[in-house]
Amino acid sequence: MDRADIHKINPATLRPEELEAVYAISRAVALAENIDSALDEIIRLARPIFIFDNLVLYLRGKETLEPAFARAIGRGRYKEADLSWGEATAHEVLQTGRLLSRIEEGGEDVHDRTRFRFLLGLPLFLENHLEGALVFIRFGGPPYTPDQVRLSEFIAGLVAQLLGHDRLVKHIANLEAERKLNQLQEDFIATVSHELLTPLGFIKGYATTLLRKDITWDEETRREFLTIIDEESDRLRELIENLMDSSRLQAGTLKMTFQPLRLDAFLRDVVMRALSLHDNIQIELQKELPELRLMADASRLAQVFDNLLTNASKYAPHSTVTISVVAEEQTVCVKLGDNGPGIAPEHLPSLFKRFYRVPTPDKNVRGTGLGLFICRQIIHAHGGEIWAESQVGVGTTFYIRLPYDQQQSNPDLSLRESYA
Ligand code: ADP
Repeated sequence: MDRADIHKINPATLRPEELEAVYAISRAVALAENIDSALDEIIRLARPIFIFDNLVLYLRGKETLEPAFARAIGRGRYKEADLSWGEATAHEVLQTGRLLSRIEEGGEDVHDRTRFRFLLGLPLFLENHLEGALVFIRFGGPPYTPDQVRLSEFIAGLVAQLLGHDRLVKHIANLEAERKLNQLQEDFIATVSHELLTPLGFIKGYATTLLRKDITWDEETRREFLTIIDEESDRLRELIENLMDSSRLQAGTLKMTFQPLRLDAFLRDVVMRALSLHDNIQIELQKELPELRLMADASRLAQVFDNLLTNASKYAPHSTVTISVVAEEQTVCVKLGDNGPGIAPEHLPSLFKRFYRVPTPDKNVRGTGLGLFICRQIIHAHGGEIWAESQVGVGTTFYIRLPYDQQQSNPDLSLRESYA
């Protein structure tokens, strides 16, 4: 019997329960969500009409024959033996491309019913390619009847269909993943180009205007234009630095140098700097700060706090940012809370994603959505975590939890202060 005979089940020769099983198997295969559950269902439905002890599905790998599915159903559940027992038969089926029925003998020293193994190997063709073999094993006989052989061929035909379906699903999933990646890359390029072109447009525009020979600008206007060029160049540099940081962080190549750092002095510096940069927010730093020492990359950690305070000035202008420190047993948690407009709950889970920005109609507030992504990566590199809590109309609080060096710190003070 060759592959042309697969599916040639003659309903007339089948007993009613066999016919019923054939229909049930076809239905189960059509409804199955994956190949494993379909094979389990096939086994469950076929067993009452067609006794076998083991079923193994072998697929042709790159160089070898790989068992893709194996079930020991009968009383003798010899797990390891399951696979090796069908292997020789599967190899032969793959060489000949034909159905194979054979009896193997275990040897004199095997005294149970596994001594005589009745094997039925069936080729699995997919679009004219021989992709694998399905092997039924029955211990101790009796031999397979012609009807049972036809039923097994019918099952092999269905399994081949399942393989085809499975392959198609995987192929579609790959295509979809590829499409998403392309889309992401396109979005990335679009966002980056837009963000880079905006300051460049200002720089070019004002520089060209200043260079016009037909107009003489008064000193005040000249200074105003030059200030814009100066600010936009800073912005361009900042954007490019952010982009470079972000891709180095993605690639894991951003260099960090960890040194002991006193958190209290560090936070005082951060606040001083922020106050000189942003005149539209107030900052209140907790008065008595615990004397904790962290192992940190000071400039990268400063980048995180600078970013959070710049964000407060951009997204929560005219609010008061309160910075407090809570020392815990092994970690310290720094809280930065503003009383700005807050962030709606649906945006919070995405806030730290690369390029994520909360949609806003205010076109004057510019940004790339890289800031918080970079903050999170830097905090992770310090073995810490960062997250945000927010309530619309009340304000947003960012939390940064970092491990501290307990031996170098003053735990008494830190603990006292932490609960103050
Ligand atoms: P960017 O400022 O470049 O847009 P970020 O990653 O720093 O990117 O911030 C992501 C988004 O989080 C911002 O676009 C903003 O919508 C929101 N956000 C950040 N900080 C605050 C804040 N303090 N209050 C309200 N929204 C904020």
